[in-house]
Amino acid sequence: MMRRTYRAATALTATALALSLAACGQNAEGGSKEKKSAGNGTIGIAMPTKSSERWIADGDNMVEQFEKLGYKTDLQYGEDDVDQQVSQIENMITKGVDVLVVAAIDGRALGDVLRQAADQGVKVISYDRLILGTPNVDYYASFDNEKVGVLQATYIIDKLGLKDGGEKGPFNIELFAGSPDDNNTGYFFQGAWKTLKPYIDSRQVVVRSGQTKLDQVTTLRWDGGTAQKRMDDLLTKAYGSEDVDAVLSPYDGISIGILSALKSDGYGTAAKPYPVVTGQDAEVASVKSIIAGQQTQTVYKDTRALAKQAVQMADAVLNDKKPEVNDTKTYDNEKKVVPAFLLDPVSVDKSNYRSVLVDSGYIKASDL
Ligand code: BGC
Repeated sequence: MMRRTYRAATALTATALALSLAACGQNAEGGSKEKKSAGNGTIGIAMPTKSSERWIADGDNMVEQFEKLGYKTDLQYGEDDVDQQVSQIENMITKGVDVLVVAAIDGRALGDVLRQAADQGVKVISYDRLILGTPNVDYYASFDNEKVGVLQATYIIDKLGLKDGGEKGPFNIELFAGSPDDNNTGYFFQGAWKTLKPYIDSRQVVVRSGQTKLDQVTTLRWDGGTAQKRMDDLLTKAYGSEDVDAVLSPYDGISIGILSALKSDGYGTAAKPYPVVTGQDAEVASVKSIIAGQQTQTVYKDTRALAKQAVQMADAVLNDKKPEVNDTKTYDNEKKVVPAFLLDPVSVDKSNYRSVLVDSGYIKASDL
């Protein structure tokens, strides 16, 4: 209660009007907003960074779809700075948004600000990444995140021909994971690890660096440069006379970093071909790299479809309807199991990028 009074006081001096309007929207049962008619309201959209194409597309897609329904939007990017994202969300609440759609930079950093949202009756949709440790998350729109890792690892297994049985191998592999503060990271890695594990146990696949634990292989803020340094280091320390045959990479930006390290180490020739390198997001630079025979695979997640789910959730909660969900078990954020709508990720390589990415209009042929 103290906190709310303090917040209200600071907010009042800043934007007295917005706050009093927001306060008018509260009812006696603990601050839930008055019913909105379709298209009546403002949606605060907090995205993590513009440094990756996908989040720009996510933001643009949501703005377009919300505006089509008549909503106003306030789209902000946190530039991978946790404090910046928190204050952006705080501002949105102060300005009186009706729903928040948030892709968190740090899934655990939003407890306080989302308590303010709940106090103001603002519903919260966790976008792509699950927000953790707070009951103030209403719905979650994402992809089947474990399946992303399963697709990446399965691709490696297929490419190395391990499924054909027999005594193939041993092949050398190195593992990379995403940012430790992103809840998706664990799901991606878990999916990949459980798929690779039987081959690691049979020693058909060997992680020469010995780095197989999630906390040894994460990449803070999904940064490609950080991944490049780690790959440089692995090649120096674990690969004297041996070559690496596959690299599990969770995200295209990381894959590009890994490929730079491989290039500097002399990979990419007939005598020393590139290893199988996976990825995620079907970013243009990576699809080009796939066409050029460098990166091998990526996982396509249609951000248009994800935006559509977040929009239907927001529209439903603002109209006292139940959003459509298809999973009510998987995503426990430690305070509650958040009802989710999960979409299906798709593995893409040189053989199907045209039909999956270009024919669907996701990427223009001219951009490739
Ligand atoms: C998203 C991925 C993305 C990564 C880095 C994850 O939370 O699910 O699609 O590659 O963040 O931006």
